[in-house]
Amino acid sequence: MPINITYNSIIKNYKQRGIFIIKSYKFVHYKNKIELNMSDTIERIKCLIIGSGPAGYTAAIYAARADLKPVMYTGMQMGGQLTTTTEVDNFPGYPNGTDGTAMMDDLKNQAERFGTEVRFGLATKVELSKEVGGIHKVTIDETTIIEAETVIISTGATAKYLGLESEQRLIGGGVSACATCDGFFYKGQDVVVIGAGDTAAEEATYLSNICNKVTLLVRKDYMRASKAMQHRVEKTKNIEVKFNTELDEVLGGNVVEGVRTVNNITNEKEEIDVTGVFIAIGHKPNTEIFKGILDMDETGYLITEGKSTKTNLPGVFASGDVQDKEYRQAVTAAGTGCMAALDSERYLGALE
Ligand code: NDP
Repeated sequence: MPINITYNSIIKNYKQRGIFIIKSYKFVHYKNKIELNMSDTIERIKCLIIGSGPAGYTAAIYAARADLKPVMYTGMQMGGQLTTTTEVDNFPGYPNGTDGTAMMDDLKNQAERFGTEVRFGLATKVELSKEVGGIHKVTIDETTIIEAETVIISTGATAKYLGLESEQRLIGGGVSACATCDGFFYKGQDVVVIGAGDTAAEEATYLSNICNKVTLLVRKDYMRASKAMQHRVEKTKNIEVKFNTELDEVLGGNVVEGVRTVNNITNEKEEIDVTGVFIAIGHKPNTEIFKGILDMDETGYLITEGKSTKTNLPGVFASGDVQDKEYRQAVTAAGTGCMAALDSERYLGALE
């Protein structure tokens, strides 16, 4: 049975945290849990962070320490892409490596220690101000409106997968979309890479230094990768390129034991023994809700100004993979998250 609690005590609590309830409200108290019926409510905050990967959490740590009282909405995949990786060996500060999910929990705890409010929810609509000092409106889950003086976008990018049932089932069990993250675990083993762009060429070359043999599956009779990258692939002895070849099935129960390929000209099928399958068919930045509002390149990545995280709108900053199609590492995302918080702090400071 819910008990109504006083509006004033809640308002005081929210004001202390820099949150202002502007419109209607309804609070109910279930034992120790306070629930705020968010429909038809608007909060005014200094700093809103959208997305909970390394960029978002690092932005949160810096923004909270700068007293911007950030509120983060995590998106549907709390912790971002790294939570689909089992082990992370290349993030500085973890000499024995760590689990991707554990690392994101560490980052979340660190952000919360300084007062970041982390909430589960998806930004579904944005109305961003074009004015310096203007208020940006972000709708969460189509019901809650957050008004923010600054917005840090860290919505990341999503690796594209082929969509095969066996591929999806074995993500984390030998199927990966990141050679730099997971390649090390296939030392001395045989792997396949699927794709024909710069990422596929780069990942195949990277893996060739670690693995015994890399088979690159290219669906056309040519590669789309730059000539320089193609030459590197051609020159590498332990990379075999199979043209006109597609992945038909990933073989294995709990872990990858091989792949079945199909030649799309002859329909001939072949089984190859491999322990790792690297999908490198591109990434899609998560920028759908910003289309027509923020400047982005032809593939949808947000464009930031020079070395900063500034987008084309004042008070709106972008960090992590959503604005980086080249490096795409947890540590580089974290670096730009830090930059976005510093850019937000300076922007707000200049308004005072
Ligand atoms: P791209 O979109 O350039 O290439 C994707 C590749 O995946 C294409 O060759 C495509 O094949 C293939 N592919 C797509 N769907 C399938 C499928 N279902 N089955 C098999 N193959 C498929 O993505 P990248 O990630 O390679 O590159 C993105 C951008 O980032 C590019 O601009 C690239 O230049 C840049 N980049 C630059 C790097 C660098 O400079 N060091 C490193 C990595 C990326 P098809 O050709 O048949 O369409």
